Amino acid sequence: MVFLKDYSILRKNMVEGLVRVGIIKSKEVERAFLKVPREEFVWHNMRHLAYEDAPLPLGDTGQTISAPHMVAIMLEELELRKGLRVLEIGAGSGYSAALMAEIVQPTNSNENKGHVISIERVKDLIDFAKENLRRTGYSDRVSIVFGDGTLGYPERKEEMLYDRIVITAASPHIPRYLKAQIKENGIILAPIGNTFMQTLVKARKHKGDLEFHEVCGCMFVPLIGEDGFRP
Ligand code: SAH
Repeated sequence: MVFLKDYSILRKNMVEGLVRVGIIKSKEVERAFLKVPREEFVWHNMRHLAYEDAPLPLGDTGQTISAPHMVAIMLEELELRKGLRVLEIGAGSGYSAALMAEIVQPTNSNENKGHVISIERVKDLIDFAKENLRRTGYSDRVSIVFGDGTLGYPERKEEMLYDRIVITAASPHIPRYLKAQIKENGIILAPIGNTFMQTLVKARKHKGDLEFHEVCGCMFVPLIGEDGFRP
């Protein structure tokens, strides 16, 4: 049995560790990690492991909540700031979506247009993520959408393109639909490789084309869909 106050101590220790090794670099990412309770996003029988720096299974869905250090690396590379519109592919538990929302829309008021839209293809996880975000107060800042994220989530208006797109599942390449849905100077971050090992790739849209930069090696569950891996 871990008590509530112990979780905040464990969270603080975890964040301090990630700062010490240089994975958390910015004040904003540090603040988000201190604020969002990971114990509310892990599967109920895994709460005691919430502050281990490890990926954890999400029940019997075959999917996982990513390890905190991996999420921290992604958040830093995304260069998030207040007011940005973010599309996430692979909501899973909703944890990374809540962290991103904490940066792009730090308060629950509508003072800026920062928002996170997160797509998920596993129905059970849609309910799980929505419930986790509701309990922790992120429902207004994160929209969870059911669907195949390899198609992106096109909005009708040009100004509704995304500033950032992050794929939290292993992809054979950057899905072609996403390129049209990112703004000029926007960033797409994705683990690119096979279903076993990938390289985290950061692509920035410059004069209509994507410029690629390799961040680090990583291991994610596969992105399954029309422009991802086949089911
Ligand atoms: N960001 C999550 C971790 C997600 S694990 C978290 O913080 O908990 C990757 C997720 O991607 C899984 O839940 C998986 O079901 C989902 N996924 C895989 N292919 C997908 C697709 N084509 N569209 C949307 N979600 C997908």
